[in-house]
Amino acid sequence: MQKFLSTLFTIIIFTTLSATAEPVVYNTVTGKVHKPACASAKKCTKNCIKIERKDAYNKGGVPCKQCGG
Ligand SMILES: [Zn+2]
Repeated sequence: MQKFLSTLFTIIIFTTLSATAEPVVYNTVTGKVHKPACASAKKCTKNCIKIERKDAYNKGGVPCKQCGG
């Protein structure tokens, strides 16, 4: 039972970490935040960088109207 619980906790922690570290595509010129799958994100090669979602919004990012950031 103890082993089952510790395995369960490991899974929960791992899931939480990977969820917060989800990268977004941030346009450094317009400040738009895109999901990596967004069509605009794929077109944006020059001004866009891949960073963590929270970092993008910390920089003053605005969610894209198409994909919702
Ligand atoms: Zn978008």
